[in-house]
Amino acid sequence: MLTIENIEVVYHHTIQALRGLSLEAPEGKIVALLGSNGAGKTTTLKAATRLLELENGKIREGRISFKGKPVEEFTPDALVHEGLFHIREGRRIFTELTVEENLIAAANALRGRDVKPNYDRVYDFFPRLKERRKQIAGYLSGGEQQMLAFGRAMIAKPSMILMDEPSLGLAPKIIAEIFDTVKRLNTEDGVSILLVEQNANVAFSVADYSYIMEGGQVVMEGDVAKLRDDPDVRSFYLGVA
Ligand code: ATP
Repeated sequence: MLTIENIEVVYHHTIQALRGLSLEAPEGKIVALLGSNGAGKTTTLKAATRLLELENGKIREGRISFKGKPVEEFTPDALVHEGLFHIREGRRIFTELTVEENLIAAANALRGRDVKPNYDRVYDFFPRLKERRKQIAGYLSGGEQQMLAFGRAMIAKPSMILMDEPSLGLAPKIIAEIFDTVKRLNTEDGVSILLVEQNANVAFSVADYSYIMEGGQVVMEGDVAKLRDDPDVRSFYLGVA
């Protein structure tokens, strides 16, 4: 569904962030993109949804396509209409608006599309957001804010969501709850997912396939069931001796 072939990305004409990166996020699957700080995970997502230009970044080589079409044919907004939604690092909800206003703002950004059924689905999927729909989003717990970020994505009824570190800043119990939600989005609503994570343990709890990046390249990839047993993955990424 999302295919990235051999991309090179530079920021400010000089800083090379990706060096010949290729990956495939197929329909119906959850794919995890792992790696330490600065490996290039966020850059990969930004390249796919055309957000690099905002930061003076550029794809110098390679191709990215979504559902077979080159992403450079679309603006970031048009990609949302095509079904590709990127939940950016840090959730980016409107903390001074209520839960409901956040969802309405997401709906307004879609200009004219009939999103009423999607809106109902968000509250059906997240009863907690329905209970708190009149509350100011900034007063929600971290886990609830992450649910709201998912809810804002669901308003667009995307076929694929790119998620940038949904576990960031959350307690382990809440992380487990959020990752249950990630799995449900995939199994119940059929959303394909490309998940960027530093926490390999939680990513492996939901993903079908995983890529591990270092220095702007993929250094390892495979089915999660296999990677889990790899001795290097266990000691470097899962913290198991
Ligand atoms: P993190 O988990 O810290 O977000 P990451 O794996 O997502 O790490 P990126 O944020 O993609 O990594 O960064 C990859 C490389 O590109 C790093 O060397 C980083 O310093 C550089 N980089 C990222 N964004 C910019 C930018 N806006 N301007 C210049 N360099 C950048």
